[in-house]
Amino acid sequence: MTDDCLFCRIVAGEIPATVVHETDDTLAFRDIDPKAPVHVLVISKAHHRDVATLAVADPALAGTVLAACAAVAEQEGLTGDGYRLIFNVGAHGGQEVFHVHGHVLGGRPLGRMLS
Ligand code: IMP
Repeated sequence: MTDDCLFCRIVAGEIPATVVHETDDTLAFRDIDPKAPVHVLVISKAHHRDVATLAVADPALAGTVLAACAAVAEQEGLTGDGYRLIFNVGAHGGQEVFHVHGHVLGGRPLGRMLS
């Protein structure tokens, strides 16, 4: 737990969130500013700055976070038509909250990101 981390405060129950999935090690909740009909953030409960630092510090937990993302996609009915999974890393990656989180986005065609 890091006192000044928004997502640590959500894990601690100090800030409300619409939780859609939880395991011993992960929490998933709806993004407050959704960019798609389904936009869920999947985090590790333990504080890690981003997915790259998590993968080095605790590869097993990184896999657990990915599995939780897949479970959320299944639970939200996204597996048929597909979905997008994004982990922003650092300022140039567009990361604004420095606690690892995967964006599970779907519910409409999202188009190609890279072309
Ligand atoms: P990033 O740009 O990858 O760091 O994504 C941060 C995400 O957190 C953005 O999509 C925000 O809309 C979302 N967000 C910020 N504050 C909250 C909150 O209190 N609850 C849920 N989502 C939040």
